[in-house]
Amino acid sequence: MALRVLKYGGTSVESPVRILEVARQILRYREEGDEVLVVVSAMGQTTDELIHLAHRVCRTPPRRELDMLLTAGERISMSLLAMALGSLGRPAISFTGSQSGIVTDSQHADARIFSIRPFRIEDEIAKGKVVIVAGFQGVSPEKEVTTLGRGGSDTTAVALAIRFGAEECQILTDVDGVWTGDPRVVPGAHRIDAIDYDAMIALSHFGGRVLYRRAVRLARRYGLPLRIRSTLTLGPGTRVPETPAERLPFSEETCPMESDRIVAVALESPVHWLRAAQPKDASPPRVRSQGTCLLSFSERTEDGTRRWHWVLPAGASPEEWNDQESWGSGATLHLERNLALVTLVGDGAHLGAMHLFEAEATLSAAGIPTVLSQTGAHALSFLVPEEKGEDASRLLHQRFLEDV
Ligand code: ADP
Ligand code: ASP
Ligand code: MG
Repeated sequence: MALRVLKYGGTSVESPVRILEVARQILRYREEGDEVLVVVSAMGQTTDELIHLAHRVCRTPPRRELDMLLTAGERISMSLLAMALGSLGRPAISFTGSQSGIVTDSQHADARIFSIRPFRIEDEIAKGKVVIVAGFQGVSPEKEVTTLGRGGSDTTAVALAIRFGAEECQILTDVDGVWTGDPRVVPGAHRIDAIDYDAMIALSHFGGRVLYRRAVRLARRYGLPLRIRSTLTLGPGTRVPETPAERLPFSEETCPMESDRIVAVALESPVHWLRAAQPKDASPPRVRSQGTCLLSFSERTEDGTRRWHWVLPAGASPEEWNDQESWGSGATLHLERNLALVTLVGDGAHLGAMHLFEAEATLSAAGIPTVLSQTGAHALSFLVPEEKGEDASRLLHQRFLEDV
């Protein structure tokens, strides 16, 4: 009997009707003879609403208490789904991250999974029950409740699929796979059948939130295949990675054999841009945050001043970075909030200067200024005004993925 690991995102469980639909879907898998381990996110916008609630009572909610609050979101959906399955006659049981044995470090709001001791899950699966696990959460060695970062239910599902040796992990969501651009923003985008881990990591790192970046990294580390599908249509979706069986065979038609291939455009918006300048001989900054930084680089100018650039996602706490004490008294800091980061994601090859000039020319012809650009192994990123982010995604998609 195979074990299916299925992760349902927030929109898939946003209402009682949708929860019952998911329960029926799980029932069908179970009737096909497979064991089923399900990971759920919080219903709809619950996590955002809980964060908003926290800010109504406190300007800077302590991370520990925020974790306690946010994990409640996934507890609601896991228990409702277990009840829905029970009402359809299929015994099911829900577990929190802690009950599932997901042990993390102590970094509240961005905890890393250390190990999984899923004894209770194993026992209940052995009894024939469908097990539902609350995504996005774990427990630290000090027995504190932790969360795995926004979008972290994907990480929970991947980690459990690895721990149980499942053949693949299915991420069921509101789009039918990974697209060449966010289908809500880029009308010319289309679904990608399969994408390699590296390109997927770059796509999700730069805002393609259909799959959480840490989940893809984890899957790559253990070679776990992923499939991203729509909960509603259950179409073929997108496979990560491209399997050897599906490799492109060599033929003259596939030439040039080596080429720079752009596979998608990602948009992260809004983002914060922090610029800092430290005088000659200043000590390295002691930034407290260990959260994700989308881009960073530094340069030393002729007079010895060190200039730093950091681009941070909206979820980061810019005050943790924009803190004079961490940079030293002689430093100057400048924080800009209303920006968007648009990124062309490449597969296998380096995205070079020619792509950069072409992209900048495309954007500037449409009156979109690029405040900062950066090329890297799999990504070519542009920082643009926030209100131009969606237009820039559409234009770059058109130029590099449609007009080819
Ligand atoms: P879930 O709640 O199921 O985890 P998310 O909202 O986290 O769903 O992710 C799905 C969303 O990701 C889609 O609705 C889509 O708008 C967005 N998205 C961004 N970039 C892409 C992309 N390249 N391909 C598909 N979806 C994308
Ligand atoms: N509910 C959490 C969030 O909104 C985790 C997830 O959905 O993956 O970020
Ligand atoms: Mg998600």
